[in-house]
Amino acid sequence: MALTQAMLQSIHDEVFRQDDWGKPAQYIPELATIPPDQFAISVCLADGHCLKAGVADKPFSIQSVSKVFSLAATLGRVGGQLWTRVGREPSGTAFDSVVLLEKEQGRPRNPFVNAGAIVTTDALLSGREPKQALAETLGLVRAMAETDQIYINSKVAASEKATGARNRALAHYLQSHGNLTNDPDLTLGTYFHQCAIEMTTTQLAMAGRSLAGLENAPKVIARAHARRINALMMTCGHYDGSGEFAFQVGLPGKSGVGGGILVIAPGVASIAIWSPGLNHYGNSHAGTRAAAMLSDMTGWSVF
Ligand code: GLN
Repeated sequence: MALTQAMLQSIHDEVFRQDDWGKPAQYIPELATIPPDQFAISVCLADGHCLKAGVADKPFSIQSVSKVFSLAATLGRVGGQLWTRVGREPSGTAFDSVVLLEKEQGRPRNPFVNAGAIVTTDALLSGREPKQALAETLGLVRAMAETDQIYINSKVAASEKATGARNRALAHYLQSHGNLTNDPDLTLGTYFHQCAIEMTTTQLAMAGRSLAGLENAPKVIARAHARRINALMMTCGHYDGSGEFAFQVGLPGKSGVGGGILVIAPGVASIAIWSPGLNHYGNSHAGTRAAAMLSDMTGWSVF
């Protein structure tokens, strides 16, 4: 069914009828105190229109949604070589889990768990200065969203660095298996800054158009790469909540602990949702509900 403004508004209103908003990410001090009862949704359609409801012009920390963009940039740079270092299977574990890495000799299951994203960023860095790799990722995001008004919040990056013992552990473990080519501090510094990119839901929905293959999207990602990225978003984009997201929503999605979710309806729409309270998987609580409502209303599930 065609999406209308009234449908988006009804999703917004339904979200505000709930009592439980979940809790913002507590392990990144800059994000921990954000009031959870906030919501935004933006949808860019194949006809070029974008609809929105809620605080759709408020920038938020995209966190792991950035893994989609760094993966696109890395595939553009090193192509299929990346898969010698990272797998393409769901992990069934939390985003920051170390458990499979030991069992599988330092080859992360997929590019969306932290270990896999750290390897992906390491491949993008490949001997360059962190600021060059970051400029490439940020440049791609800006080109996809068709705006230069997208920035990295260095306070958020510093805040994560200060408490990032787990990601440091992952990076050093990868290094011990020969699956990190740069100094762990350089790769992690690049990774923390990439995660600290801030976008509004409207900018994020605009950026997703290339993945959705919408005709009006800038041609900055190869179609073959977009198809693969969407497949990984469907199977791995919500970590150990990926099966549930596929069940409830039926669309490729990528979440971040900032409370953002990018959802792709291939050929139909690019959707961005934000609400900073998280569920127990570390995915947006209200955002996941809203994605399910949108999918039910529109019939956009790919199944
Ligand atoms: N920067 C966060 C981290 O590495 C990203 C995690 C997430 O959004 N799931 O822990």
